Amino acid sequence: MLVYLNGDYIPREDARISIDDRGFLFADGIYEVVRLYGGTPFRMADHLARARRGLDALEIRYDDVDGIADVCDELVRRNDLEGAEATMYLQITRGAAPRKHAFPAPDTPATVYTAVKEYRDHPAEYWTEGVAAITVGDNRWSRCDIKSISLLPNVLANQRAHAKGAFEGLFIRDGIVLEGSHSNLFAVYDGELVTYPLCNLILGGITRAVVFELAEELGIPAREGLIPESRLFDADELFLAGTTTEVMPIVTVDGTTIADGKPGPVTKKLQEALRAKVS
Ligand code: PMP
Repeated sequence: MLVYLNGDYIPREDARISIDDRGFLFADGIYEVVRLYGGTPFRMADHLARARRGLDALEIRYDDVDGIADVCDELVRRNDLEGAEATMYLQITRGAAPRKHAFPAPDTPATVYTAVKEYRDHPAEYWTEGVAAITVGDNRWSRCDIKSISLLPNVLANQRAHAKGAFEGLFIRDGIVLEGSHSNLFAVYDGELVTYPLCNLILGGITRAVVFELAEELGIPAREGLIPESRLFDADELFLAGTTTEVMPIVTVDGTTIADGKPGPVTKKLQEALRAKVS
């Protein structure tokens, strides 16, 4: 398998980064995960735009974010992944420099790593039967809109979910459900979709935006709004939205069954519409 590192296409096992890399020392960087359907990237431009916004917010200098689309194509070609179900991973850090908190010299090159690999789906029943979620306190920083590689609270939340046999941990802040550890959350009340408003407290998911588009196309009312933890359990439907999670029904939260414990009709419509969009 060939990966892209700082301008070169090299065998994965030969890829090396410095122990002084600020990604390693400070989690000083951003990442993206893009889904490729049949070898074609889905919403690459949106992912790269989000990467650019993150780099700008963190003042990491890397000018050729747009070029990553070509790098992805090249990785697909060189790894014989044409037509494959795959994911692209991109990580850009502030580069390698002697360890000091303040930024290194401005000419320090960013570290840019990209890989494309075959995507192993979640078990099909996750989508058809739904998954379990748990609630967790949100102890993240206040710039969750940046897709930072500093993911420790997300890792711990997801691990807690997995330890309980659940798929996702849902972050609660001040009694409000914000999003999952690696996905956005939607609830359905009386046929209307509700999800937390875009702001610094959640990641502006690409799939979240796609769900709004699909809802509009399908004539499903959708709005940004607050989902209090107390109202989570009387939602008609709950689902997660994410690049690899796609539209995934939640059927239990903290062991309590949501509605009749089956994926609901709105969730199913959105799943079908997303499938249609990517095929
Ligand atoms: N929220 C968080 C915290 C995430 O990590 C992700 C996945 N990267 C999402 C939401 C969903 O974003 P996207 O649809 O762009 O994958």
